[in-house]
Amino acid sequence: MNLMKNIKDILNQKEFSKEDLVTMLSAKGDDQKLLFAKAKEVKEREVGKKVYYRGLVEFSNICSKDCYYCGIRKGNNQVSRFNLSDDQILQAAEFAYKSSYGSFVMQSGEISSPAFTERIENLLREIKRLTNDELGITISLGEQTEETYRRWFDAGAHRYLLRIESSNRGLYQKLHPNDANHSFEKRLECLNTLKKIGYQTGTGVMIALPFQTLEHLADDILFMRDFDVDMVGMGPYIEHPDTPLYQYRNELIPLKERFELALRMIATLRIVMRDINIAAATALQAIDPIGREKAAKVGANIIMPNITPGLYRNSYKLYENKPCVDEEPQDCVQCLDVRIRLADAYIGYGEWGDSKHYFTRNTNS
Ligand code: SAH
Ligand code: SF4
Repeated sequence: MNLMKNIKDILNQKEFSKEDLVTMLSAKGDDQKLLFAKAKEVKEREVGKKVYYRGLVEFSNICSKDCYYCGIRKGNNQVSRFNLSDDQILQAAEFAYKSSYGSFVMQSGEISSPAFTERIENLLREIKRLTNDELGITISLGEQTEETYRRWFDAGAHRYLLRIESSNRGLYQKLHPNDANHSFEKRLECLNTLKKIGYQTGTGVMIALPFQTLEHLADDILFMRDFDVDMVGMGPYIEHPDTPLYQYRNELIPLKERFELALRMIATLRIVMRDINIAAATALQAIDPIGREKAAKVGANIIMPNITPGLYRNSYKLYENKPCVDEEPQDCVQCLDVRIRLADAYIGYGEWGDSKHYFTRNTNS
């Protein structure tokens, strides 16, 4: 006797068990179509058809950590390291502002030092000044002390992205060196601190990692729900040859399946956490040229066009096949606009596009 619920019944529920989530994540063929249609319906009802832009600057690939999956890990001596000047970062912020991108994201390898904290603090204040306080700012600069997070918040950053990578402690430990610099507890603590300070807090995971099961991914969704995150950015894991995790490449599912699984994760999360912001990760585009647009069709409402000056894009390679490494920021503006419209969505130019969930959770509590 088959006791598994069918997908139609599950999609009509308001609450979802871990088992339900596993069924959603394994949907194929017509079942997958039903899942995607439901996610689209929920997205349009809860957060509308708009997609918001976050102009992304990956300003430095210098990193003090050694995550086993990442191409810019400290131990990879094949990478030439770069660090954009303050002027280059400010120019990118102005480009985002003038292109009406609404928001700006600064991301880099993880550095913790008084000089780094101060540099970012000054840059944040300068960006706010240059853009008349009109540009929203998200940062993604890894694990830092509470004081550093506070200083950056006070200087104008209002959203922070820190992926938990995997909410399963055992799996997390397989993806990172076993030392104090890569502690699962510390990462969790940082997420709690960010929330306490008042950031719109974003997390996420990599999808289709070696050793990862659908149960792990279902637990990741439950983690995001229980942590009550405001934003999520998640995408497929893509192996990088100069990393320790590359040795498990033969155990990975094919890229196309990884991509589809990532879409099902996005769709499932949209159905579970209806009013959060969900980003279409760049890694999706590395597998499928219109991957981000496909994600927007099944629940994502944030796109992060890369506005790092072209010269440096090639060196910020977290994974293989990184898209658009030979383009300049202006090339992306029109290209994306057309593509988003094809995905039955449109862009909220000049709007911050804050997470609706952030405001509902703060009113309800
Ligand atoms: N240093 C910061 C931000 C830069 S890394 C941090 O680690 O938080 C940003 C994200 O890139 C990571 O959170 C990770 O989820 C993702 N990433 C790294 N290597 C990857 C890979 N090989 N495939 C897919 N995503 C990867
Ligand atoms: Fe550094 Fe982030 Fe890559 Fe880890 S994932 S090695 S912290 S850049």
